[in-house]
Amino acid sequence: MAIRKIITPPDPLLKKPSMLVAEVDDTIRELVRDMFETMYDAPGIGLAAVQVGVPLSVIVMDTSGEGEEPRPLALINPEVVWTSDEQREYEEGCLSVPEVYDTVVRPAEVRVRYLDLDGKEQERTFSGMDATCVQHEIDHTKGILFIDHLGRLKRERYLKKVIKKAKQAQEA
Ligand SMILES: [Zn+2]
Repeated sequence: MAIRKIITPPDPLLKKPSMLVAEVDDTIRELVRDMFETMYDAPGIGLAAVQVGVPLSVIVMDTSGEGEEPRPLALINPEVVWTSDEQREYEEGCLSVPEVYDTVVRPAEVRVRYLDLDGKEQERTFSGMDATCVQHEIDHTKGILFIDHLGRLKRERYLKKVIKKAKQAQEA
């Protein structure tokens, strides 16, 4: 297992749609193990493979709170097949957009089809925090960041902030 480096803007990979996984093999399972390790270390509640520089449609998440049993979940080739009319607002953040938080409105419930780590097709309905998280991560597989859901001015301001911080860190 290894902690992988999380990429940030202006890395062009973050804007690129990820490729579907052709076969869930040991390489994918190793990628998933590394993604969990990277996510827990950060710490975060979700991570997409593209965020560690691998443009494959793979996401991991664990929305358990402190002191709760962990609920690790890996989804390969996830696809939203149903969304509720009811919406939910949540102040989101992203490991690839550090120190930026803003409110995003998304469907309150979604049904997602995906492959599990054995390559079996599964469907699962997500609600509450899980629904927000899974939609945020699926967005990453399409090259969409949560700040892309905000207005253009906000998005540009946040991008500038992140890129400036990264430059400062490099120079330090
Ligand atoms: Zn994110």
